[in-house]
Amino acid sequence: MKTEYLTEQELERAAKLLQGGGLVGIPTETVYGLGANGLDAEAVSRIFVAKGRPQDNPLILHIPEAGWLERYCERIPHSAYRLAERFWPGPMTMILPRKSFIPDVVTASLDTVGMRCPAHPLCRAIIEKADVPVAAPSGNTSGRPSPTNANDMLEDMDGKIDAIVDGGPCMVGVESTIIDLTCTPPRLLRPGGITLEQLRGVLGEVDVDPAVTRLMGAGEKPRAPGMKYRHYAPKAPVTVVTGDPVRSAQYIHDHAGETDGVICFDEFVALCREKSSRVVLNLGPACDQQEQARHVFAALRSFDHTTVPAIWAQCPDSTGIGLAIANRLNKAAGFHIVEV
Ligand code: AMP
Ligand code: MG
Repeated sequence: MKTEYLTEQELERAAKLLQGGGLVGIPTETVYGLGANGLDAEAVSRIFVAKGRPQDNPLILHIPEAGWLERYCERIPHSAYRLAERFWPGPMTMILPRKSFIPDVVTASLDTVGMRCPAHPLCRAIIEKADVPVAAPSGNTSGRPSPTNANDMLEDMDGKIDAIVDGGPCMVGVESTIIDLTCTPPRLLRPGGITLEQLRGVLGEVDVDPAVTRLMGAGEKPRAPGMKYRHYAPKAPVTVVTGDPVRSAQYIHDHAGETDGVICFDEFVALCREKSSRVVLNLGPACDQQEQARHVFAALRSFDHTTVPAIWAQCPDSTGIGLAIANRLNKAAGFHIVEV
């Protein structure tokens, strides 16, 4: 299959392809998504083939406005509207009871569905034009770090999808926050661009699913099926180093091998590279977590173009969007974490 490269002027073409059952790479503010008409079971099943994604890992339905929620969800709690009012369009997915006509392949046969209204204007315009909910996971090959620009997505999907729309680099850089509203108290299933603190500001009490911060044990059943899979991982094994940035940088300086890869805050690039041939990539300034979120996936992916035998990553603390960055790094590391 030849993958068409589309610019923002060609959104009608993208919408047509979606309506016709095609697979389209779509830019969002979080990461690039691999979209299909969410009401077309056959189209959606091709997403799983293109990504090599396990069938029991459900997708998110993307809609252009909160008014579409009633079309696909039932027994919508008042809290959903309050969250939508505050954070949509934006990087937040709500888990809600679903209507039965949504194809099982979208929800992995769960009785709930993940709903999101993205903030990227081009993305919303494409969905509006197609006039269907767009089912989409991240646009990477299953297990790899998510793509945050069109080129990174093409690296995984060229020849496997009908088209990709280039909407520039993603402004958030990590996937949407997933909040389950079908339980009491609501439960954070995945940290993302909307922070836990922001959710608690609207909802009051919010539980954090154990899978966010630690490895699930054998026999433990994760609430979101996707949580059990190895995720975001480059080829080389990753060690995450947490704690005070000066100490974690020094730890990496002292412990990383001569030719290892390092991801660190901008301030420590020189220290981590000192007298070695390490591949050192910067995550952003230690104090700027938004910038770190935009860089984390591209940094993880770029090591796959090198021969580094191991990767060391400095990790921000878990406040704000730091919780999402730490979650992605920790998953990439299989929760192999050193605390200094
Ligand atoms: P991705 O953004 O590529 O990780 O794919 C969508 C994510 O949403 C996956 O982690 C899914 O497990 C999660 N998800 C989608 N629908 C549901 C649902 N009904 N319940 C729990 N998690 C869901
Ligand atoms: Mg994904």
